[in-house]
Amino acid sequence: MALRFFNTYSREIEEFEPRDPTACPVRMYTCGPTVYSRAHIGNFRAYIFEDLLQRHLELRSYKVHRVMNITDVEDKTIRGAREAGVPLQKFTEQFKGAFFEDAHTLRIKRADEYPAATDQRYIERMIEMISGLISKGLAYQADDKSVYFRINEFPDYGKLAHFDLTQLQSTGRVKHDEYDKEHIGDFALWKAWDEADGDVKWNSPWGPGRPGWHIECSAMSMALLGDQLDIHCGGVDNIFPHHEAEIAQSEGVTGKKFVRYWLHCAHLLVDGQKMAKSLGNFYTIPDVVAKGYTGRELRYALLRVHYRVPLNFTWEGMNEARESLSRIDEWLARLREVAEQADAQRQTRNAQGPTTAFEDALDDDLNISAALGFLFESIRETNRAMDQNEMDAASARAWLEWWKRIDTVLDLEAETDVAIPHEVAQLAEQRENARREKNWKRSDELRARISALGWEVRDTKDGPKLTRGAGTA
Ligand SMILES: [Zn+2]
Repeated sequence: MALRFFNTYSREIEEFEPRDPTACPVRMYTCGPTVYSRAHIGNFRAYIFEDLLQRHLELRSYKVHRVMNITDVEDKTIRGAREAGVPLQKFTEQFKGAFFEDAHTLRIKRADEYPAATDQRYIERMIEMISGLISKGLAYQADDKSVYFRINEFPDYGKLAHFDLTQLQSTGRVKHDEYDKEHIGDFALWKAWDEADGDVKWNSPWGPGRPGWHIECSAMSMALLGDQLDIHCGGVDNIFPHHEAEIAQSEGVTGKKFVRYWLHCAHLLVDGQKMAKSLGNFYTIPDVVAKGYTGRELRYALLRVHYRVPLNFTWEGMNEARESLSRIDEWLARLREVAEQADAQRQTRNAQGPTTAFEDALDDDLNISAALGFLFESIRETNRAMDQNEMDAASARAWLEWWKRIDTVLDLEAETDVAIPHEVAQLAEQRENARREKNWKRSDELRARISALGWEVRDTKDGPKLTRGAGTA
């Protein structure tokens, strides 16, 4: 079955067809954190959805090139640095570090690139884009010296959000300086420097200033992924004005369709309410960990609801996540036991082997609830078979193989804290030597011996890694 996604642009489920499926990886851009404070669990819900999306595409044999930007200059970062009395870069650095730490805790796969908005080469790209927009009549410099996008000249403005331009007046997003603009909805491409910006400024043809938030994403995505992206993601609150503005800027410059599929993740609520510091229900990843939960448990809790459905975070839900994971852990332990036993007498009777139902469910707009439903149904069935001594080693191994495959998407397996046996470590060492000598035959033989002992060796860029394998008895 073909892969299908709900495209915010068309408001329809569409079959996924990357622009250039044979020659290029899928070009995927995901709006990253604004590093003015530690990201909260709501932000991470969106990042986990994007992680799931990338991993499922990869399970379906697509190569993915994913870019996630770091917004390290906009109003909130400048204000934060000023209030802390430190240079902007020093201020944002700590939150960048925290973001990567939290992403690691939640087992989020690293993007291929993390461009930062303050990088000189992207600032240049932004200036180039803005100049292009001015020369096409799509942007203008106002009396306040800032440069704005002229939304009346871009007829498609509002199409992503399905927004009627005449309604813009009532959005309440009026700022003190907006009298300088031609239209209330015109958004800033370049913000002229003012005193509050301190030493945060770059030179431009329009005087010193800094880029607007929207142009940062347009410039960085196009610089790294080209004029036309396959997938662009974010949270629903990015749709307007941020993503709408990205379309206007990018298509305004190139005249080409900017993004084929827009995917947006719904909100996260805490105890049925919007998360807010004032309500005392605002949580970061370390807040959840401090309550005794693991990153794996939080990953599961944030992953298990379909991305287009609001997710209600509760501590009860965290406990459910813990229970679900122990069911998986116990099931895997049992399967391994059966897989490692010699069992001439035992046969698999009537038990169903693994099917493709899990990944088929994910093909359907990442229907994770259905996919997990199938996983737990399989756990019930196979546990019953094992209870009745009706599963042989080969079937158990087939289920373990299946788990290994779906866990490339879920990444929910327990941390292995099993000590590596001396013999296995020695074989791995010998294999590494054989590899260094390019003796591939010997290296393969040693891999097979390691595997026969129930371990698996993977070659990573940090060297060989040993993990508990499916076991081959
Ligand atoms: Zn963005």
